Amino acid sequence: MQKITIRTRARQELVDITGEIEEVIRKTGFKNGLVNIFTPHTTAAVIVNENYDPSVARDILNTLEKIVPSSGTYTHLEGNAHAHIKSSIIGSSRLIPVQDGKLQLGTWQGVFFCEFDGPRTRQVWISFLKEE
Ligand code: ZN
Repeated sequence: MQKITIRTRARQELVDITGEIEEVIRKTGFKNGLVNIFTPHTTAAVIVNENYDPSVARDILNTLEKIVPSSGTYTHLEGNAHAHIKSSIIGSSRLIPVQDGKLQLGTWQGVFFCEFDGPRTRQVWISFLKEE
């Protein structure tokens, strides 16, 4: 497993980490199989979506905020219940195929770290499942 550190800058944001993951794959020399992209935090998540037009990431965040408002009424006293819920809805990991050392994403796809309770220093753990 390889670990990368991300410093988020906003309370809620989507950070494109595609380049960092490709760099880890290149450095490890991993060729064929799957990479699991996992974040060990309860108020963050990982998604795969469009990284070409930044308005898509904004729309995702804005829509999540409408579904689970930061200012909603919750019982969790820490004040970040909305972030725990968003993290639970989206999930803490994604599996992505790798072929010939290249992340197999669609033309418009990228991997995003989702920050719901930042800014913070965050971890993303990358595990490798080798194809026979
Ligand atoms: Zn909390």
